[in-house]
Amino acid sequence: MKKLFLFTSLFFSSFLFAQQTYIQCGKLIDTKNGKVLTNKTIVVSGKTISSVEDGFLNPSDQITTVIDLKTKTVMPGWIDMHVHLEGETSPTAYLEEFTLNDADVAYNAEVLAKTTLMAGFTTVRDLGGTGVNVSLRNAINSGKITGPRIFTAEKAIGSTGGHADPTSGYRKDLMGNPGPKEGVVNSIDDAKQAVRQRYKNGADWIKITATGGVLSMAKSGSNPQFTEEEIAAIVSTAKDYGMKVAAHAHGDEGMQRAVKSGVKTIEHGTEMSEATMDLMIKNNAYLVPTITAGKEVEENAKKENYYPAIIVPKALAIGPKIQATFGKAYKRGVPIAFGTDAGVFEHGQNAKEFIYMVEAGMPIMKAIQSATVTNAMLLDMDKKIGVIEAGYLADIIATELDPTQEVSTVLNVVFVMKDGVIYKSK
Ligand SMILES: [Zn+2]
Repeated sequence: MKKLFLFTSLFFSSFLFAQQTYIQCGKLIDTKNGKVLTNKTIVVSGKTISSVEDGFLNPSDQITTVIDLKTKTVMPGWIDMHVHLEGETSPTAYLEEFTLNDADVAYNAEVLAKTTLMAGFTTVRDLGGTGVNVSLRNAINSGKITGPRIFTAEKAIGSTGGHADPTSGYRKDLMGNPGPKEGVVNSIDDAKQAVRQRYKNGADWIKITATGGVLSMAKSGSNPQFTEEEIAAIVSTAKDYGMKVAAHAHGDEGMQRAVKSGVKTIEHGTEMSEATMDLMIKNNAYLVPTITAGKEVEENAKKENYYPAIIVPKALAIGPKIQATFGKAYKRGVPIAFGTDAGVFEHGQNAKEFIYMVEAGMPIMKAIQSATVTNAMLLDMDKKIGVIEAGYLADIIATELDPTQEVSTVLNVVFVMKDGVIYKSK
């Protein structure tokens, strides 16, 4: 018995030593308390953080890896609550719906996922594609390819002719009649079926398009596109299956219906009224600002022939409003969850959102907390990610400078570790 104990303890200690990494941090952001700590060492064993020690620890053995980040600022990996990893904006994006097979989409998505991770985003919520995003999540989780941890909505749910109708803008003989299976609903029963189908397809979240949107081939970018009863059916069905609901919304009416029906996150929130802001506070619903997407669609709309003609006026009207609405909502006390809509702009530029949030009046520490502790909580991962503390997964990044002193350094991520594996170290 004694012999066996000796054997197992030796086995486990050598196993742990083999996997151990000391990360020496000049500065370390404590996201729980919103503080910048100095001179710490994070001890990582396997996938997890085993302790955070004062000062710069040096190992006594030969096998522990030491990462010297004594001149850098270290923090938990960021979480982006709104990305679309299946694609990226380009003037040919609409044509690609007809030319790319799922396999092409998958190969592209692999590259975009890696780009996202290298920019410091160790976890993302993918808010809609064709379903390739589910396979992408699985391939990353099983370690076959490199990318952030993904929570996916699979395919967004919309109504006929709405923002998530996959054949809006097609000529009539190509339109077909997409239904709940394809994520298009027109009744309470359809709504329930579409949610159940998403669950069957492997979704983690439900995304609905509560109002018109900028980049769909339709006239209105902000009209309500669901009845309150349909949204309520979606939310309650999602709840039965352990899922929460995110709602894309630019117009106030559709947004208000979504918040009243129990949607957890409002994406964009462009024309949010003060009454809706107050309702969000009351119902503990979160605004995912996507300011970067707003600014980029406005820029692209000014380029000749970048978007189809029907998109341009919507992009010019909606894009510029998002940042100001975010600033107003934040100051009024609306809960904020960091999210960018990457894919609508170039993947890997997600951290620009921090700069825009600060411009609109949110202190950088609060913005970093929204991208870590807040988002971890919304994803039911608050015991695992978003904090650097013993027992959490080792999702750790570093910036060249201290973002609380120089915000633009968020675009200069010099170190990325996810699940204890180093992906970037320069
Ligand atoms: Zn989006």
